[in-house]
Amino acid sequence: MKKLGALIASFAIGIASFTPFAYAQDKGVVGISMPTKTSTRWISDGETMEKLFKEAGYTPDLQFADDDIPNQLAQIENMVTKGAKVLVIGAIDGTTLSDILQKAADAGVKVIAYDRLIRDSGNVDYYATFDNFQVGVLQATSLVEGLKAKFPDTKPWNVELFGGSPDDNNAFFFYDGAMSVLQPLIDSGDIVIKSGQMGMDQVGTLRWDGTVAQARMENLLSSTYTEDKLHGALSPYDGLSIGILSALKGVGYGSGDMTMPVVTGQDAELPSVKSILADEQYSTVFKDTRELAKVAVSMVDAIMGGKTPEINDEKTYNNGVKVVPSYLLKPVAVDKANAKDVLVGAGYYTADQIDK
Ligand code: BGC
Repeated sequence: MKKLGALIASFAIGIASFTPFAYAQDKGVVGISMPTKTSTRWISDGETMEKLFKEAGYTPDLQFADDDIPNQLAQIENMVTKGAKVLVIGAIDGTTLSDILQKAADAGVKVIAYDRLIRDSGNVDYYATFDNFQVGVLQATSLVEGLKAKFPDTKPWNVELFGGSPDDNNAFFFYDGAMSVLQPLIDSGDIVIKSGQMGMDQVGTLRWDGTVAQARMENLLSSTYTEDKLHGALSPYDGLSIGILSALKGVGYGSGDMTMPVVTGQDAELPSVKSILADEQYSTVFKDTRELAKVAVSMVDAIMGGKTPEINDEKTYNNGVKVVPSYLLKPVAVDKANAKDVLVGAGYYTADQIDK
């Protein structure tokens, strides 16, 4: 009898000591809604967060929405139904989430806008992103450096502008940042936009689609550059740059006396890094998505622990309803001269991946 009592007691202690441990390992479901898999950055953002959330004791629910808005809404709705405590959302269209976010808020779910601001909703708690205006500044600065280096004896420089997706708040920040550098040179006559196409309403590229950028570049080349040469294209994203470069190569740029125009980019995607090293694309902007994932995970962990997440910007990102407290990471300009040092140095790629 004594023995049985001791056994029961030790069993009870076992449960008691096991239970808190089990809870500590199960901090709840976190929904991660990423916009697309067409760009490697979003896959890496999603997978890094998934791994970090697991390590921190959460149950991540990672979904990619294939650039389809109804799909993203359904996936988020499902996360709320499954009892997610926090949602981390990289929106396809930053203005379409108000209804589902209201449902989330009603269920007590917190929301972090990831990389792209979610607009027109008061139910966005924090925003983890990069300094998006600075991305545009870096792109335009590198465009101008490239023009000076590649076309030192030519002025004015003929340039065409490409913008990102008009439903992505970031696209306006990139464009405005770039224009803060380019407009003075356009005003002084050093740069000419020969097509006259300026402003996001004329140069935006819906859903960041490289084939759309390629088609627009082809049209510009046949309408505007049959006599005159193009010297530069402001491109806000590597996927667009690859399309633009294809159009340029298609009419002979990059061979003979047709010097390849300066084409910028963003994200340091592998095909673009290789293109930069092969003297085709001129530059890109590196944003370490692993760092962004860390910021988002630590924001979630703070919220779940009843603490206030660390932020470093409280004025820039007004989403139409509120200024969303933000943490901004620093983007880095990358061209042929520093590509290997920066990207291999950061461990983002191996030397082997870049060289092959
Ligand atoms: C991101 C960029 C990316 C673009 C296209 C933007 O919202 O900030 O890094 O190049 O979307 O995916």
